[in-house]
Amino acid sequence: MEQEIIERIEGVVGKEGYSVEPAVLYTYGFDASIFHHTPDIVVQPRTTEQVSEIMKIATEYKIPVVPRGSGTGLCGAAVPIKGGIVLAMQRMNKVKRVSVADLWVDVEAGCIYNDLNAELAKYGFFFPPSPGSAEACQIGGMVATNASGMRAVKYGATRDFVLGLTFVKADGEIVRCGTRTIKDASGYQLARLMCGSEGTLGVITEVTLKLTTKPKKSASCLCGFDTVEDAGRCISAIIAKPLIPASCELMDSVSITAVNKARGNPLPDCGALCIVEVDGETDEVVDRDIKIVEEVARSVGAISVTPTKDKDLIAKWTDARKSVMTSLSALKPGCSSVSLADDMGVPVSQVPKAVKAFQEIADKYRVTIATYGHASDGNLHTKMVIDPTDKDEWDRGVAAVDEIFDVCIELGGTVTGEHGVGISKAPNYMKERASELSSIRAIKKAMDPDNILNPGKADQWVGPILGSLRYPCKEYM
Ligand SMILES: Cc1cc2nc3c(=O)[nH]c(=O)nc-3n(C[C@H](O)[C@H](O)[C@H](O)COP(=O)(O)OP(=O)(O)OC[C@H]3O[C@@H](n4cnc5c(N)ncnc54)[C@H](O)[C@@H]3O)c2cc1C
Repeated sequence: MEQEIIERIEGVVGKEGYSVEPAVLYTYGFDASIFHHTPDIVVQPRTTEQVSEIMKIATEYKIPVVPRGSGTGLCGAAVPIKGGIVLAMQRMNKVKRVSVADLWVDVEAGCIYNDLNAELAKYGFFFPPSPGSAEACQIGGMVATNASGMRAVKYGATRDFVLGLTFVKADGEIVRCGTRTIKDASGYQLARLMCGSEGTLGVITEVTLKLTTKPKKSASCLCGFDTVEDAGRCISAIIAKPLIPASCELMDSVSITAVNKARGNPLPDCGALCIVEVDGETDEVVDRDIKIVEEVARSVGAISVTPTKDKDLIAKWTDARKSVMTSLSALKPGCSSVSLADDMGVPVSQVPKAVKAFQEIADKYRVTIATYGHASDGNLHTKMVIDPTDKDEWDRGVAAVDEIFDVCIELGGTVTGEHGVGISKAPNYMKERASELSSIRAIKKAMDPDNILNPGKADQWVGPILGSLRYPCKEYM
């Protein structure tokens, strides 16, 4: 990057507010995906006004800008594939104001999810989406990806809590959109448009979130099955009862084996597991609902049913479920778990069909695929366990992924339930959203006419997804 531009940036954020050190640049070229590309400068603003000034400079020199939260995204959305500026938001991390009477909180975009909830807990409230990356991901990153997690089936995703927000446009204009009211019917909802925009429409600097109370009581039930289809049927049957659980996590046999191997057997060895949580204000409600879960699980052929309110046991199960992704990398020597088709969504009734199809596709392409996820909202994660230095494995993996996405779209689903599009879902996202693409591109053009905000991602992706890989596979690096 030219010295003149670096000096202009230093004039806005000071010496402490940016870096061009090669080691820093290399580090900010990663997120949690399979991709990597080094930026030209990393800038860490402290205020919305600083973000605005940086965007004015970027527009003047036509420099790509990638807003970045904590880099926990799994699909390459925060990887600066065209170089340029990474705008890292971690210094804008304050919970600015909690208005209990009005049921909202104003929070800066760089605040970590768990830190926000620690503050809200003082008032008896919480922000429920609960992503698996809760200890690390930022509120801005969650809004930009419309993140959610195990509680989405009952409480919703990030978008459902965003009342308003402040963002900076590509040309530096500061926009405050939405309201601080629970109801709002005043025209277009720009705040909602920003949810899931993945840094392509503006830099989110502050968010107003709706508050919710945390239920006082909960219980969980671990249900074991011979097959993953039986587990899928259990989930559909619980919802059809009707009973909306607080969460319902599915794990197939590959996931169970990986966790038991890596973590010293915290789970029963079987074909599939569901961990179902119910919550409510009283013990009566929770006892009634957990009984329904037990009955439904038995009626669809569960081979073990373990209801409990024991917090330590529940924490052990939750911890085991959250460790699937990392445990998979220890499944086979020399192999890693990679995120390719990692986050599909299908209608809940289609979960059994989808998981069966994933297994058939894995067999067809001779790849190891683990299926797990927040299955009560139809959100299924698959991870492939491959040797990342082996071109042939990558090629078979990508062919399998295309078929997995086709199945999900045919079943009325989506290529991403919560992680977003980024790079790894781009070609199949364009397939899924074919009839919306011209409108999507018109919105992008109106808000970012020079195409400097996170360029080259999602609908702008061209060619196959393998390229800029972080792994040592020469053909695809
Ligand atoms: C172990 C693990 C478990 C996970 N579990 C879940 C889960 O259960 N549910 C889930 O939804 N996701 C999950 N994820 C994915 C990821 O954590 C989420 O997508 C999260 O919301 C990303 O937040 P981040 O701050 O890390 O954003 P980043 O990864 O830094 O960025 C993600 C996208 O948001 C954009 N962005 C970030 N901040 C801003 C901003 N201030 N303004 C504009 N754009 C911005 C970036 O440009 C990028 O496009 C998981 C990831 C890991 C590693």
